[in-house]
Amino acid sequence: QKTLTDRIDRIEVSATMAITAEALKMKAAGIDLADFGAGEPHFSTPAHIKAAAIDAIEKNFTRYTAVAGIPDVRKAVVERHAADFGTNYTPEECVFTAGGKLAIFNAVEVLINHGDEVIVPVPYWVSYKDIIEFAGGTPVFVETDEAENFKLTAAMIDAAITPKTKAIILNSPSNPSGNVIPTEEVYAIVRLAHSKGIYVLIDECYAYLSFSGPPVSGASVTEAKDHILVLGSLSKTYAMTGWRAGFALGPKKIIAAMSKLQSQSTSNTATFVQKAAVAALSGDQTCVAEMRADYIKLRDRILEGFKTIPGLTCTVPEGAFYVYPNIKAFLGKGGINTASELASRLLTEAHVVTVPAEPFGTHEHIRLSYAVSADVIDKGVQRMRDFLAKLS
Ligand code: PLP
Repeated sequence: QKTLTDRIDRIEVSATMAITAEALKMKAAGIDLADFGAGEPHFSTPAHIKAAAIDAIEKNFTRYTAVAGIPDVRKAVVERHAADFGTNYTPEECVFTAGGKLAIFNAVEVLINHGDEVIVPVPYWVSYKDIIEFAGGTPVFVETDEAENFKLTAAMIDAAITPKTKAIILNSPSNPSGNVIPTEEVYAIVRLAHSKGIYVLIDECYAYLSFSGPPVSGASVTEAKDHILVLGSLSKTYAMTGWRAGFALGPKKIIAAMSKLQSQSTSNTATFVQKAAVAALSGDQTCVAEMRADYIKLRDRILEGFKTIPGLTCTVPEGAFYVYPNIKAFLGKGGINTASELASRLLTEAHVVTVPAEPFGTHEHIRLSYAVSADVIDKGVQRMRDFLAKLS
């Protein structure tokens, strides 16, 4: 008999985590890396958020809570969303989860049956494919055109819908490309899904890291509320990746199912993290704007650096903190034939950590997270330039 289940054998270890592990080993061996691998802010969690957690611990706020979260945190989530996007969720339409990833995982587990199709625009965040396949669903990939800045339109989604389509995943700003879906297209996709009875899973992980205008949520199309599931995260917005704080907003029936699943798995998110989340969501939002302003500067710096590397081209990201340069010019040189081989050689020979394109659904790119210091950007770009120049 097989030891492991078929469903665990359907998925892979998260590719970004694999690269991070390799980089950690090299760092532990004393190697100085220019690390653009991990997708997390280089900022510390803002002081008022940390203080709220410390205060909660000191007041012994450390016991079990309601599985879906304390009333205060659910209220804080819905009020933040209402203020920023004009939505009208109630606390019963909110579940607080141990990170945005768990919100996505639980949403897919309660919505997707064997054989259901889920539309996923390419390039996509690595985990969507595995999360859908773990549930027994089939990801249906919608290709986008790099020459058009990876632009996604409602017409492209429409063309991919079949009688088996159960849901669409939207992620804007995107990991890995930093692309932002035009607001009118987001709304059109949501209306399209609603008219066809398909759910839209809106991953708002980077919603507040949008550079060219105010943050956008498809959930602002409130008449489509029955088919919208907002999957949110505090990780990037408030530099809280390790705290594991995320949430879902959606129809009561789906939220109740997600809470039921959570009641048999993680139970509530760490109690003091919920208090910290209240401080983050209800407190002064200046920290978010400050970090965003810094990301814009870092984006500009790395794009300027890339201009000094002959052969490397890159779309201009309008959000998140990733660049997704095209490395086609270097394939077939120096024994490198794939993005994975390039990323691997960059790591071992140039000591630059990047993530290759394959797990994001493309072949000719690498992803770099520029949530690092300006010094790391300068050092990393120089190392890439030297390494890539030697290839030809
Ligand atoms: N969605 C996207 C697109 C992400 O890039 C990430 C993290 O990298 C997440 C969701 C999940 O973040 P977390 O589980 O830390 O909230």
